[in-house]
Amino acid sequence: MGRCKRTRNLEVHHKDRSKGATLSNAEVLCPLCHEATRSYGKPGPTPPPFSKEVKEKALRRAGHRCECTRKSCPHNAL
Ligand SMILES: [Zn+2]
Ligand SMILES: [Zn+2]
Repeated sequence: MGRCKRTRNLEVHHKDRSKGATLSNAEVLCPLCHEATRSYGKPGPTPPPFSKEVKEKALRRAGHRCECTRKSCPHNAL
């Protein structure tokens, strides 16, 4: 266990909402893991969306799979 291996419908998550839409602030997550991130859906400042270019770079960097390694994530229960 330890990491999610989903490769479908990947989304690019802002690791830190206040740090903008840069590649270093991008984390590739599947929808399940994305929903499980703490900031998801909570009120607060909406970070700028990632550009297509940054998304593509992030996906390539992640090898087109979910980068989540959170211990508390639902992927670990499946
Ligand atoms: Zn995942
Ligand atoms: Zn996860």
